[in-house]
Amino acid sequence: MTDTNHKMNCEEFQSQLPELIGTGERISDHPHLQSCELCSAFVAELEAIAEAARQLFPIVEPPDELWEHIEMAIQKEQNSAGQSGRPM
Ligand SMILES: [Zn+2]
Repeated sequence: MTDTNHKMNCEEFQSQLPELIGTGERISDHPHLQSCELCSAFVAELEAIAEAARQLFPIVEPPDELWEHIEMAIQKEQNSAGQSGRPM
């Protein structure tokens, strides 16, 4: 497990995947994938799933307002639950 040839290990790469997907960059160009069959297969699988999801749910972008409502609901929850608990 001491492969120093890899600049980035699979765990690191996969932990960055959501970010990479979020930026809309082409993940298949990532240097890690050039040397790692495991992650190439993993990404290919993800892309297949994403493609299938796109066909099932053509509109996948929730409006920003929705996230604001969710965040507000979470904060409210934390405020009422944390009054006698840990300090903010
Ligand atoms: Zn890998």
